[in-house]
Formats: sequence, C-alpha cells, structure tokens
Amino acid sequence: MSADDKVEIIQILRDIKSKVQENSTMLKKILKDNTVPEVPSSTCVPSKNLKLPLRTFEDVARTEMELKNTTTRKKYHITIQRRGQEPQPQRYLADTNLFTCPFCTSQICKPRQYHQIVAHIAGHKIRATEYGGYVIYSCGLGCGQKAKHFHCCQCPQTYINKAAIKRHLCSFHPLPPAAPDPPRETPSLPPAAPDPP
Ligand SMILES: [Zn+2]
Ligand SMILES: [Zn+2]
Ligand SMILES: [Zn+2]
Repeated sequence: MSADDKVEIIQILRDIKSKVQENSTMLKKILKDNTVPEVPSSTCVPSKNLKLPLRTFEDVARTEMELKNTTTRKKYHITIQRRGQEPQPQRYLADTNLFTCPFCTSQICKPRQYHQIVAHIAGHKIRATEYGGYVIYSCGLGCGQKAKHFHCCQCPQTYINKAAIKRHLCSFHPLPPAAPDPPRETPSLPPAAPDPP
C-alpha cells in the first residue's frame, strides 16, 4: 500500500465519520422534535373549567351544572346556537350555486342566492330570543307543526309565539343569578374621610 493510498483511505474514513456525525445529529433532532409532552387522552371532560379541589358547596353545584351542560349540549336543537355562533348559509346540494337556510326546510325557504339567504337569516336573527349563553332562532324545519316556532333550550316544548317562549323560560327555567366574584384579598382601604359638617 503506497503512502498516497493511505492518505486516500484516511480521507474516506474522515468523510464517513463526518457523515455519521451529521446523521446522528439529524436523528437526535428528529427524535427531539417528535417528543411531545404527555397529554391526557380523554378530552371529553372540560377539565380546563374544572377547578379542583372543590372547596365549597357552591363550587360543587357550579361544577355539576357545567358538567351537565357539556353532556346535554349535543342534544340541543339545531335552531339553538351558542351566543356568538353565527348561523351560516348552507350550500344546496342539488345546485351548488344556491344556498339554503339551516333553520328552514327548502319548502319553507326555497334555495336561493347567497346574499338572499344572508338576508333571510338576518330575519331569523331579528326574531331570535336569547337565553343564558344561547340564542334561540325561529324554526322552519316542520317538526310536526306547520307554523314557524321556537324550541325551548331546556325541555322539548315548542312555542309559536316569541312572547310565550320567553314566559316559559322565565317561569320554568329561570336563570340563576349571576355568580358574585369570589372574595379577593384587597389591601385594606384607609378609613373614609368623615362627612363635612
Ligand atoms: Zn330560515
Ligand atoms: Zn322545530
Ligand atoms: Zn322548557
């Protein structure tokens, strides 16, 4: 083996070594990138709202209500939407240039242009009634009756008249009074100045 050969072999070995180092750095990086912190597999529990431990009966009652709300939310009628959730025109399957109303059958509200459906949905918004965090839109989906109506968000009752559903909500499902802020540790205020004589 000549000296030149030796130099060449050493050079090749160096190349291999640097390649291997490069690869292992890459591999380490990939492994690092793929390491995610452990997340709980169950996401159905609204754990972010859950403040544990529960200290007072009030806490227990509130948590119970929150949990109940999460489990019953799915049962709400389509015309009952969370506040802030904008009803959207839906594309008509038979003619994709046209749109339908999510709260009406296509017999009651014929498929039409986008802006026309937006105007029609605006009418639902004007007639809608709010309850707690929910908005109850008038329902034109039939539901066994011809006239448009409102679905109660707490029970299966429906009402044709907006005033009637409002009355029903007030008397059968009164909203709990807004929870007072938890007492906070405030720096003691200096005694109030006495009233001028
Ligand atoms: Zn409609
Ligand atoms: Zn209905
Ligand atoms: Zn009801």
